[in-house]
Amino acid sequence: MSETQTRIFICPFNQYHKLMEYRKWSFHITRCGDRKGKTVYSCQYQSSHYFTDISTLMEHEAECEFRKTQKTRFDNSDPEVAKSRPPIAVYCKYDVGHVFQNIDDCQDHMKECPKREEFMKKAEQCHRKFSENKSWIKAAQQAKREKECELGGNINAPAS
Ligand SMILES: [Zn+2]
Ligand SMILES: [Zn+2]
Ligand SMILES: [Zn+2]
Repeated sequence: MSETQTRIFICPFNQYHKLMEYRKWSFHITRCGDRKGKTVYSCQYQSSHYFTDISTLMEHEAECEFRKTQKTRFDNSDPEVAKSRPPIAVYCKYDVGHVFQNIDDCQDHMKECPKREEFMKKAEQCHRKFSENKSWIKAAQQAKREKECELGGNINAPAS
């Protein structure tokens, strides 16, 4: 078995999305729902190395396997260069289909995104459901604890 066949490709937006083939992986990242609200950077030495966090990108580029064979376009040791590193894509928090080239455009857009209201409504519903569940779970835990107390009492009672 060659090395490429055993390699696992991890989705840059959700580390639990693992794909066994590069082809599937590159397709997945164009559809992954977890892109929402993320800023994506790509490695300057190998564009298929994606990162959603600039400091992880910097760490990666310092030891990227392609570093020696590719030209350095961004000098990360210069904080100004590192700070103004352009992302390859910035995704709207409310709709993954809204993609921007830079963080400012995306922020401006999110203030008046047509999907914003829908998103807020859903988030609120979700929160309500969660709170309801929480009180239900608490009640169940309380009942269980009481039962255990009873049982515990029995166990601790001196045997005849
Ligand atoms: Zn994914
Ligand atoms: Zn790289
Ligand atoms: Zn949007």
